[in-house]
Amino acid sequence: MIPIDLTTDIRYLRGVGETKAKALSRLGITNVGELLTHLPRSYEDRTRICTIAEVQPDETVCIAAMVAEEPRFSYVRKGMELLKLRIVDGAAAMDVTFFNQSYLRNTLHRGDSFIFYGKVEGTPLHKSMTNPKFEPEGKNRLTGRILPVYALTAGIGNALLISLMETALPECAPLLPELLPESIRQEHSLCALPFAYENIHFPRDYESLAIARRRLIFEELFTLQCAMKLLKLRRERGAGRKFQSRDMEEFYASLPFTPTDAQRRAVAEAVEDMCGGLSMSRLVQGDVGSGKTLVAAACIWFAWKNGCQSAFMAPTEILAEQHLRTMEGFLAPFGISVGILKGAMGVKARRETLALLSDGHLDVLVGTHALLGDAVQYDRLGLVITDEQHRFGVNQRSALSKKGEGAHVLVMSATPIPRTLALIIYGDLDVSVIDELPPGRQTVKTFAVDESYRARLNGFIRKQAEEGHQVFVVCPMVEENDELPEKLKSATEHAEELQKTFPKLRIGCVHGKMKPKEKEKAMAAFVSGEVDVLVSTTVVEVGVDVPNATLMVVENAERFGLSQLHQLRGRVGRGKAQSWCILVSDDKSETARARLKVLCATNDGFKVAEEDLRLRGPGDFFGQRQHGLPEMHVADLQADMDVLREAQQAAETLMERDSELQSEECRPLREKIRTLFELNSDTWN
Ligand code: ADP
Ligand code: MG
Repeated sequence: MIPIDLTTDIRYLRGVGETKAKALSRLGITNVGELLTHLPRSYEDRTRICTIAEVQPDETVCIAAMVAEEPRFSYVRKGMELLKLRIVDGAAAMDVTFFNQSYLRNTLHRGDSFIFYGKVEGTPLHKSMTNPKFEPEGKNRLTGRILPVYALTAGIGNALLISLMETALPECAPLLPELLPESIRQEHSLCALPFAYENIHFPRDYESLAIARRRLIFEELFTLQCAMKLLKLRRERGAGRKFQSRDMEEFYASLPFTPTDAQRRAVAEAVEDMCGGLSMSRLVQGDVGSGKTLVAAACIWFAWKNGCQSAFMAPTEILAEQHLRTMEGFLAPFGISVGILKGAMGVKARRETLALLSDGHLDVLVGTHALLGDAVQYDRLGLVITDEQHRFGVNQRSALSKKGEGAHVLVMSATPIPRTLALIIYGDLDVSVIDELPPGRQTVKTFAVDESYRARLNGFIRKQAEEGHQVFVVCPMVEENDELPEKLKSATEHAEELQKTFPKLRIGCVHGKMKPKEKEKAMAAFVSGEVDVLVSTTVVEVGVDVPNATLMVVENAERFGLSQLHQLRGRVGRGKAQSWCILVSDDKSETARARLKVLCATNDGFKVAEEDLRLRGPGDFFGQRQHGLPEMHVADLQADMDVLREAQQAAETLMERDSELQSEECRPLREKIRTLFELNSDTWN
């Protein structure tokens, strides 16, 4: 066989033809290097060998035994074949049954010894196994070891991946590039890379597995941490427009309320950034309702005072519309002009807006991603604000700041991220936290109920409406081709039903399939109070502000993430009246109940996020789509907090010494970071 290396096409491995190669590519495996980094999802412990006498029903073990009689073959019913045999070890016997594997007749003969691996069934007096894995004693391929379990795809079984790994590992593990500088490896007692790969795939024992995992997790977190620090450094080097300080009291005095201390602090931190001569990259994190929009307005005012335009980007058009109105409210009194750019707008209006913008007559432009488009030319863009930041990725962040030479960037997030994760996800940003709600905010009383409360819930909706308040009802997004579990109603159906229940109430509906214009209209009707009950899918999730709404009902609440539910709850409790959130779910499972209970117990978004992290793991915070960070392969941030801290500290130490990772020992690390972020060389070099 020809020698293989990391770049060898997977097709050259024995057992891989065109069809298998195609299937493997669905797992992201096209060459040997990618094969080796396809790490096991879990392991099956096949190390425990028992005698038939000592094993108990329900245990999954290996049993060394001899075939006591020739297997008996029979047809049970059409298409179902049965192979039965008896096995014995020193002291006891057991029945073994195989379904639809009649060919095993030729393998299992009386007097031959095997190791059988499987779950023991039956009773203590009459034990049996069904479809066990087995192999001759001493072979140790399928039994007697810790077996890796890989993520699979159609056409690719676990056994194939194991055999490919067995082929590739011995030759190629030593070729894997070592990213960690020797000094770091020494200092943190991390094993060598080949050992790590050999033992993450085929652990010699549990201790070796732990050593291998720790090394790989460390590497992953360390690399990410260095990458974020490097990004931050690049940015800090970038010169920004240098603004002159202004008396913010002039702006504050125009407000109908007094800003909270937390709001003032966030504004002051941003202003300081913008006066420093470098470009700002700041995240403002604050729970729903903490008043982030005001902070945005204050910064826009400040930029305008310095003769600059601002762009304000929202994740949805509905929110952009709302921000337009809010910004006009805050800024028009100063003669600041605010415009909007959206998908559904006439060609003429669009051209006019763009012209006003490029010749500098428009001070503030609000919109969605469209603000990043090539057609959008600013005259003097000084500040870019993105709302609900977690929906924009790292890459978009940098695209944004490129738009305006030296423009300042402020991002606002209402999704509290547990502090530990924030260090990684926002490692390239400075962070302000608004940890105080405007005065007079009451907590939203939250209850989890099941269908048996339907009548009482309807009574409650009626009561709210009769008192002149408004009600949100949120249904999960239903895809057309979803196999609908029972009782999962679409927003439209639910709205129709409510209309029947409450013929006198005005029921509106907003859902994903409506045209933007229709959505906007339905939303506007709710905002202006012409609609009592708004039934919607999660389009209202972020930001929409209707102070008169006092009740949020979430149907099939088990289908939402905790942080998402917290966001939804934040849509009410924005006015003076007591507000409620009712989570409707018939899911009786313990996890579902435990999750909803978290919301009933606290109104604090950070606590909700911590719990969400604990109950669901970091996947959701860390999913690639949300923030553009590379996917994590080994690290489970919840379980691996200690390694995270260690990796962070190591990154810190290393970059104090070599802030640009320029030294020879850091070259592989630098290369890796570059490919992870797929940054073109001009941003990176
Ligand atoms: P979020 O942080 O969720 O974006 P908003 O900026 O939408 O919150 O603010 C929520 C509501 O609180 C708005 O109606 C806003 O006008 C009001 N608000 C903001 N700051 C204050 C304040 N300091 N005092 C009173 N009300 C405030
Ligand atoms: Mg907001």
